[in-house]
Amino acid sequence: MIKVVVAGALGKMGQESCKAIVNAEGMQLAGAVDSRDSGHTIGTYIGKPEVNVTVSGDLEQVIRDVRPDVLVDFTRPGVVQRHIEIAINAGVRPVIGTTGMNAEEIERFVQLASAQRVGGLIAPNFAIGALLMIKFATEAAKFFPHVEIIELHHDQKMDAPSGTAMKTAESIAAVRGHMSQGMPSEFEKIEGVRGGNFEGMRIHSVRLPGFVAHQEVIFGGIGQTLSIRHDSISRESFMPGLILAVRKVMALDHLVYGLENLLFE
Ligand code: NAD
Repeated sequence: MIKVVVAGALGKMGQESCKAIVNAEGMQLAGAVDSRDSGHTIGTYIGKPEVNVTVSGDLEQVIRDVRPDVLVDFTRPGVVQRHIEIAINAGVRPVIGTTGMNAEEIERFVQLASAQRVGGLIAPNFAIGALLMIKFATEAAKFFPHVEIIELHHDQKMDAPSGTAMKTAESIAAVRGHMSQGMPSEFEKIEGVRGGNFEGMRIHSVRLPGFVAHQEVIFGGIGQTLSIRHDSISRESFMPGLILAVRKVMALDHLVYGLENLLFE
């Protein structure tokens, strides 16, 4: 039985994760952590009253009490860093969905996990369709180097661009390099209207109620365009990838960045 603690358990992703872990064969939801102190059991939140795990505000205490195998984290930037450190130092494998960490922070955790020989995963996107989108977009960029990325999310999202857009842009930049595209003398009549500039490609972040997580990668060539689009229309879309990750980290002794490195190995 893989014992899993979920941090951010009362959040949108946290609740979905708790449900998925309870339903997954060979997994046990051993703890639920959230700073929105409740005193209630997580079961009452996820419509499974039989799940008798009280929500706690203290991750270190929960780890000492239940000695989990894996920590799943869907909290927020600024919190997740501390959680990863606590987990790795306690020998608990982190499976991190929280986005917004920079490359230096991720590298520091990769080093820490290797030093402690603890497996783990930081995944900006657990939706398998989104990973395929990145893979296909990277392939397309070899033939269509002119590209812009539009990502669309719900309006409560804290970071922009999304972790998935960053990952897509990094992956495309690795095959096409830095490139200036568009009109060199173009100017913005409204600041920021052309989006953020990553290695010469533009990223646009849309934030509106009604969206979950969506992204379109648009390539322009002579006389043709190619669009590769992925839509997560519900948070359930992230769960098959999350459950797969929880199983896979059990056999790792280092921290991996990106679920694609466990999927397409
Ligand atoms: P949310 O605001 O609904 O949930 C965050 C939860 O974390 C809240 O319940 C909050 O109380 C809790 N929290 C905040 N500080 C805490 C602390 N110090 N200790 C314990 N709990 C704390 O947000 P969400 O929509 O569920 O998203 C959470 C994160 O997951 C974001 O970073 C988001 O970008 C990311 N996300 C990742 C994926 C993926 O596939 N990797 C998919 C969707 C969202």
